[in-house]
Amino acid sequence: MHTSHLLKTPVRYLILASLTLCLFSTSAFGQDDDGVLRIIAFGAHPDDCEVRASGVAAMWAKMGHKVKFVSVTNGDIGHYAMAGGPLAITRTKEVEACGEILGIEESVVLDNHDGELMPTLENRKKIARLIRDWQADIVLTPRPNDYHPDHRYTAILVQDAAFMVTVPYFTPDTPRIEKNPVFLYYYDRFQKPYPFDPDIAVSIDGEAGAQKYECMAALRSQFSDWNAWHAGYLDQVPKDEEGRKAFIAEMFQRRDAAVADKYRDLLISLYGEERGRVIKHAEAFEVSEYGSQPSMEQLKKLFPFFE
Ligand SMILES: [Zn+2]
Repeated sequence: MHTSHLLKTPVRYLILASLTLCLFSTSAFGQDDDGVLRIIAFGAHPDDCEVRASGVAAMWAKMGHKVKFVSVTNGDIGHYAMAGGPLAITRTKEVEACGEILGIEESVVLDNHDGELMPTLENRKKIARLIRDWQADIVLTPRPNDYHPDHRYTAILVQDAAFMVTVPYFTPDTPRIEKNPVFLYYYDRFQKPYPFDPDIAVSIDGEAGAQKYECMAALRSQFSDWNAWHAGYLDQVPKDEEGRKAFIAEMFQRRDAAVADKYRDLLISLYGEERGRVIKHAEAFEVSEYGSQPSMEQLKKLFPFFE
């Protein structure tokens, strides 16, 4: 982690400790002292936040923390048989239904065309306003290394807003955020220029996982139609509703099991040997260098799942 390993003398340690106390004494990065964390997650399409962070979102929500999912485009071309307004409306309804399953506060879809997102100043301002309006403690985002231009530019837009949210005269119509949030990247499989390197991994076994896989099935136009067609498994999707739900759940359980296996050592360091070994499904996140830099202790207050 990004801690004080460079400062070794007692005097330096004391200075650092008192600085740390000043900065983080009240609520471990919270914008206020009410003990409620505020999380905003960005994805390019109306399924990206859901795929990467539904489990952890359901866990935060259950503890009373406030989670908002934002799809930066409206998903209006990602289908083989329909497009435009009707598809955007379908996708918006699907993520709203998914948000209800997860128990999160809000799921919103911005009216940018799918496949056409650009890292413009206007869009940077939109993202900065959303982070400020939510008074976010935690911001989740994709990394900029990705096959899809909308994923890349969502990442760039969030990164470009990461410092600006603290600058008073950037979009002065929205008050600046007092404490820079912690920005974290979702897991992805891309290796170049460098692979995803998580700081935190969370078990979603049990209720949160069940909510996540139900949510994935609720995104019917994504995983039962479009991705199924694009990835060539459409003919394998069962026609009956129960069969379809089980099929989608298994698909995502396999993905989340791969994450748990890949980052097993991190899970063990967070949960201890006994529990860490047997975690089946996980979601993982890497702290971005561009927002607040939490210690592991502070990170565990933002992800309060390790008691
Ligand atoms: Zn996407």
